[in-house]
Amino acid sequence: MNLDLIQKLKFEKDLSREEFLYLLYNQNDFKEKLFKEAKEVTKKHFTNKLYVRGLLEISNICKNNCYYCGIRCGNKNIKRYRLNSEEIIKSIIVGNHLGFKTFVLQGGEDPYYTDEILCEVLKEIKKIAPDAAITLSVGERSFDSYKNLKNAGADRFLLRHEAVDNELYYKLHPKEMSLENRKKCLFNLKKLGYQTGSGFMVGAPYQSYENIVEDLKFLKDLNPEMIGIGPFISQHDTDFQSFENGSVELTVFLIAILRLMFPSANLPSTTSLATLSENGRIMGINAGANVFMPNISPEFAKENYNLYDNKLYSKMESAKNLNNLKTSFKNLGYEIVMERGDFVPENHYEEI
Ligand code: SAM
Repeated sequence: MNLDLIQKLKFEKDLSREEFLYLLYNQNDFKEKLFKEAKEVTKKHFTNKLYVRGLLEISNICKNNCYYCGIRCGNKNIKRYRLNSEEIIKSIIVGNHLGFKTFVLQGGEDPYYTDEILCEVLKEIKKIAPDAAITLSVGERSFDSYKNLKNAGADRFLLRHEAVDNELYYKLHPKEMSLENRKKCLFNLKKLGYQTGSGFMVGAPYQSYENIVEDLKFLKDLNPEMIGIGPFISQHDTDFQSFENGSVELTVFLIAILRLMFPSANLPSTTSLATLSENGRIMGINAGANVFMPNISPEFAKENYNLYDNKLYSKMESAKNLNNLKTSFKNLGYEIVMERGDFVPENHYEEI
């Protein structure tokens, strides 16, 4: 094992389990080279562009009871809300005026959102913003449901696998939930032609480096177009309230590894990263993330979508906020772009 591991990762876009583990146990030895290579690959695929997505948190009502999550159904100390179709559309109109070309509709697994309701919303969004991409992140559904939503206009779907190791999965989730179904959903989304996003929390309770390596290997099998990872952050009304938060350093190290494994994937610098460290967002971007998601939810939604404590949200209600954002990233050498930023396979240009 030596420093050539980073070269190998760059060219083969994968490593053996032992090699990944070696990287994780010896991060300091590899950091400098890894970040340099990840930055180069990011630049090659995205130049200095940062793609923004308008994030709309549509509901904090959830039928699941994921032990780590502040909006799990067992939490009685949270003010619940949901946006109805009209409220969703209102927010989309505002986002559309601001120039967003991707909207992410994310929420708990709220049974209110039947196919009928969501399909109507999707069609309405496509009328208002025909050239915008719509990303859904509303949890596990049947193949037919995903198909209906796709036919109604959904382009992308985010569903983190969370943990691919069986033992860890059931330490984080009640037995009523199913890792097998989660994986099946992800492969169904791929089969249906969604740009599919998966990912996991870094530093989740009980997670080991060995678990993380399995997550990387699972992602390699799935080959998603988007990968979201962010540090676990404890929430005071969950069983995991006294667990330590995940590490910002490990998260950015993993973002850089993912960039070398998936050169053209859309990788967000997540809100949880920005929440844990003042520089978290830019650290993620410098490590290889090319996307981030300003929150365009109404104020009451932002205040109550509390997945974890002290959740940060970048305000995005006005063109002024957007301009400030553009200026501050410009000063850091990045250009904020509003384009859809669809996934373009790595060899696309070579094949033409
Ligand atoms: N219900 C949808 C789903 O399951 O994909 C989307 C909403 S879910 C709340 C979005 C993501 O939040 C999850 O995939 C999880 O990884 C993340 N999350 C939940 N609780 C968290 C915590 N305490 N710290 C960091 N991330 C958390």
